Amino acid sequence: MRIYLDHNATTPVRDEVVDAMLPLLREQYGNPSSTHAEGAAAKRALDRARDAVAALVGAAPGQIVFTGSATEANNTAIHHALGNGAGGGAVTTTIEHPSVDEPLAALESEARPWVRVEVDESGRVDTAAWQAALSEPRALVVVILANNEIGVLQDLPRLADVAHRVGAHVHVDATQALGKIPVDLQALGADSLCGSAHKFNGPKGAGFLALAEGVQLTPWIRGGPQEKRRRGGTENMAGLVGLGRAAELARLELTERAERSARLRDRLWEGMQEKVPRVRRNGSAEHVLPNTLNVEFEGAAGDILLEALDLEGVAVSAGAACASGSIEPSHVLRALRRTPEQARGTLRFSTGHGNDEAQIDHVLGILPSLVERAREALR
Ligand code: PMP
Repeated sequence: MRIYLDHNATTPVRDEVVDAMLPLLREQYGNPSSTHAEGAAAKRALDRARDAVAALVGAAPGQIVFTGSATEANNTAIHHALGNGAGGGAVTTTIEHPSVDEPLAALESEARPWVRVEVDESGRVDTAAWQAALSEPRALVVVILANNEIGVLQDLPRLADVAHRVGAHVHVDATQALGKIPVDLQALGADSLCGSAHKFNGPKGAGFLALAEGVQLTPWIRGGPQEKRRRGGTENMAGLVGLGRAAELARLELTERAERSARLRDRLWEGMQEKVPRVRRNGSAEHVLPNTLNVEFEGAAGDILLEALDLEGVAVSAGAACASGSIEPSHVLRALRRTPEQARGTLRFSTGHGNDEAQIDHVLGILPSLVERAREALR
């Protein structure tokens, strides 16, 4: 039996989603740009998916641009805001996803500075530093609504408000938040927002960019007339229909899912504190996704613990990578001022569909001795 506790990496595809996708791979092969009956049927399926995604984020269908991933949506938003010659560059946080950091690094120049505002030790953006960074005109602000490693949530309406006062386009990376907490484009104060189906029980390779009313997107991928000329390329029909069905389920089940994953996450954390000495939780325990638990096992080799858990059938993820013989903490743990040793002992547990109490209790049963072994390895 496998126990999958890595739902922030990706999630199992729900049966309802697979059922919705299969006809698109078999008999419904029409191109939504075609004007015959096959094309019209595909267009209708695409429209339904768009309606469902729009409803999930509180937007109108015309405000949704489908993409191949959240990575593509982040790149699109960044190129839109920085490519038009507006001055001031970009302001982000030190805990963004690489799909934000990498395009910003590539576009950074003297004329287009990139300011990264630090977070405090709980992972929340420092308000004074945020205001200081936004005391002059900026073209773009990007904020990760919920961080993928520590699950910490940012106070978006407030951060967006400060950014709007200096004319910045506010892009929100909501990839980890969707399906776990309510997400509303307008309430967040976002000019654009992105998501990815595979993080909420949909297929991989299907994402979207939601635009605030009135935002005229400059396309990043140019080609045919698809997506109202905002993203060229024949649509990934099965993937997008899967995205739509997953969005529908996420919206209908949001409260129930959040309660359930929080109950399991809290059971895991309470059990760990009881059974395993010297554990420490990383990031705010208050402003956090309901499903995420990032834990440092003091003095343990996290890589060895991760491997031992995997051999026992439990999938989690690490807080540090071993790069050419030395331990490299993740940039998020570094931003939280964790040392390489602390990062090395850190693992992320993220709950979701398919997990239950018995699984959590099983993990708690095997964890103490595995942690002891992972500590001995470093003695
Ligand atoms: N942003 C965040 C916060 C993420 O966690 C991820 C996925 N790890 C992405 C963006 C990229 O999503 P995708 O896999 O759809 O490219």
